[in-house]
Amino acid sequence: MPIVELKDVKKSFGSLPVLHGVSFTVEKGDVMALIGASGSGKSTALRCIDRLETIDSGTIEVCGHKVHDRDLDLRKLRLDVGIVFQSYNLFPHLTIEENITLAPRSVKKMDKAGAREIARECLAKVGLSEKADNYPEQLSGGQQQRAAIARSLAMEPQVMLFDEVTSALDPKLTGEVLKVIETLAASGMTMIMVTHEMGFARRIADQVVFMHQGLVHESGTSGTLTEPATPELREFVMNDF
Ligand code: ADP
Ligand code: MG
Repeated sequence: MPIVELKDVKKSFGSLPVLHGVSFTVEKGDVMALIGASGSGKSTALRCIDRLETIDSGTIEVCGHKVHDRDLDLRKLRLDVGIVFQSYNLFPHLTIEENITLAPRSVKKMDKAGAREIARECLAKVGLSEKADNYPEQLSGGQQQRAAIARSLAMEPQVMLFDEVTSALDPKLTGEVLKVIETLAASGMTMIMVTHEMGFARRIADQVVFMHQGLVHESGTSGTLTEPATPELREFVMNDF
């Protein structure tokens, strides 16, 4: 059963067409690497999946939710989808644990002890157990990004979306964040990750989708990255490796 399915999705910003009819499917437990040059529409596609943007035409289904539907229950969709961006957006005046328990408490109405237990579990998953009582500014960039991932995981999503989560980090910190994502992938989490880490994508992706000028230009298994069929993907991977 597909967890995410886009069919002929079109989206413009004003008079600028950005998605020209994008279609792809992500099966349960699969890791999809969404790649492509800057401006090809990757972030827009990701944001449409979580209804941070509304689409002009086509359909998007996520965990059984019809995202394109006017009557979509946004709250239910967002319970099933976790999204992590390049910027971590942790609340600076809250501890790491408080950042993580906020949504389970307010959205899921969990009691303090229950939310705390989940926060501790999620912090353990990202290797930050000892940072629960620290404030974001006391953490490195890589640690803050791992905390942001833990915050998403605490809502127990069905699918995780990562948009260039390591782009702001230096190589050492990038490695520790990628390791967390790799562990998450190995645990069976369904995910779409927009990434420029081609080696990483080749290693962990079940499916690679290459976007070019607002369309899926080429897609396939991770082997696609070593043997691209189109000149556009060939050029893209050559510049990125
Ligand atoms: P990518 O993530 O692949 O770099 P984006 O989806 O961010 O690409 O952007 C695709 C195109 O859409 C770009 O030309 C960008 O300038 C434009 N765009 C993205 N978001 C907006 C917006 N909110 N308003 C207007 N144009 C936008
Ligand atoms: Mg982007």
